[in-house]
Amino acid sequence: MQFTPCIFWFRNDLRINDNAALEAAFQSGAPVLAVYIWDPDSFKSWVPGGASKVWLHHALKSLSEQLEKCGGRLLIRIGTTRSVLEDLISETGAEKVYWNRRYEPHLRELDASLKQLFRSRGITVKTFNSALLNEPHTVENKSGTPFKVYTPYFKCVHARPVVPPVAVQTDQVLWHATNLESVELDSLELLPDDDWWQSMISHWDVSEAGAHAALDTFLKSAVKTYDTDRNFPAVKGSSTLSPYLQIGLIGPRQVVAALKSQTDLSKEGPHVYLKEIYWREFAYNVLFHFPHTPQEPLQAKYADFPWEKNDVFLKRWQTGQTGYPIIDAGMRQLYATGWMHNRVRMIVASLLVKHLLQDWKEGAAWFWDTLVDADLASNTLGWQWSGGCGADAAPYFRVFNPITQGEKFDPDGGYVRQYVPELAGLPNKYLHAPWEAPAEVLAEAGVELGKNYPETVVEHTAGRARALAAFELFKTPISA
Ligand code: FAD
Repeated sequence: MQFTPCIFWFRNDLRINDNAALEAAFQSGAPVLAVYIWDPDSFKSWVPGGASKVWLHHALKSLSEQLEKCGGRLLIRIGTTRSVLEDLISETGAEKVYWNRRYEPHLRELDASLKQLFRSRGITVKTFNSALLNEPHTVENKSGTPFKVYTPYFKCVHARPVVPPVAVQTDQVLWHATNLESVELDSLELLPDDDWWQSMISHWDVSEAGAHAALDTFLKSAVKTYDTDRNFPAVKGSSTLSPYLQIGLIGPRQVVAALKSQTDLSKEGPHVYLKEIYWREFAYNVLFHFPHTPQEPLQAKYADFPWEKNDVFLKRWQTGQTGYPIIDAGMRQLYATGWMHNRVRMIVASLLVKHLLQDWKEGAAWFWDTLVDADLASNTLGWQWSGGCGADAAPYFRVFNPITQGEKFDPDGGYVRQYVPELAGLPNKYLHAPWEAPAEVLAEAGVELGKNYPETVVEHTAGRARALAAFELFKTPISA
């Protein structure tokens, strides 16, 4: 009988089921000591933003309760990952440390250095994949280089078998009977002092069970029409699994296994949904192979793009005061719930980088702070796509029209009326362009442009022309 524990280090894999490293720790024969380490320095420039910290707090709370229910305990410590693991090893005599791999450049460096250090001291270190269907280092094109375009990437990977998820028999788990020191969750100070987060988090059930409930609800109905409904922000047409996937309350293998067993993948809805799961994989592929992309465009020629920094424009965009109803609804949905509909993410990003000529990194930073699903890989990919400077990016001449996008994807105005209530009384005809409404219509709806709802931050045709001029000029080599 072995008494020294196997240390399992929780990261953004905050679940018990289908957690490959935790399962291996359970199988190791040693009692399992589970620890979460709050090590802000390890994140370098990418310390979780405000909304992500609130999400993390709740995820750790539910995980801790879940572990206690099955006889375990989540140890929480603050410090550098290295020193906390070293302390635990010396306090317990542990000879094994297991964790799941991460793919962000700074965390890969950390993983490599820890692995080397502990192995050099005779500790068994084992690392696993629990975050992806295919790890980026396993995928390359026929010329042996990484994919930069989604469709060939998808063709290459989607036929590969997906490892079935593992369900853990928690009643058979041997836990380390620990009374080791652990800090209170509150001492991580993940919750802000003011209470804006309380209404935001009330939209979510932040737990492993909550993730599966969201998946089940989605697979029971919305998945059938996902291919079309996912474009309409007033309809609950997508799975809203992104924050759960981001922190690992559910894993992609579990999502794909449920999708395969509960739907017919030859039908358009489930098939398109599967492809979206692979967009997340593609994002990790790009981040892994091009680790500079959170700071620099993948297409190097855009590094010197002449952005026109304007704090007033940025503030109006951030606060949902641009005067374009679909944009303002999106930015306010983001602030209220920590999440924004994908179609609307594309429209708001386009307005910021094209009409307003603000650096995509400003938008990415705001999303990083306010999204509960903020994810370095997907956020970078999404913003560089919008800015036309990334992998498989939108062409430079695609400038989303915020009026027609609103009319097309929120035709009944349900989304705008929910998040921009000051426009709720306008008839649909004018809802996405209130400035076109006759004075008496505005008066009847109680809308006073420039007073209780802003004038547009930039007029669409002029903004579009300005964007095209900048991108076109820039596209042409400077010497030409
Ligand atoms: P569903 O439509 O139900 O899709 C299922 C899952 O597939 C999602 O949960 C997500 O994991 C993945 N997925 C879907 N679309 C994409 C995509 N375009 N790129 C990568 N993965 C995708 N997603 C994040 O998870 N974190 C981010 O920080 C993030 N930032 C973005 C920034 C911009 C500018 C844009 C345009 C998109 C961004 N996305 C991001 C991608 C996408 O908007 C969200 O993943 C999606 O809206 C989440 O909602 P859902 O879970 O209902 O998605």
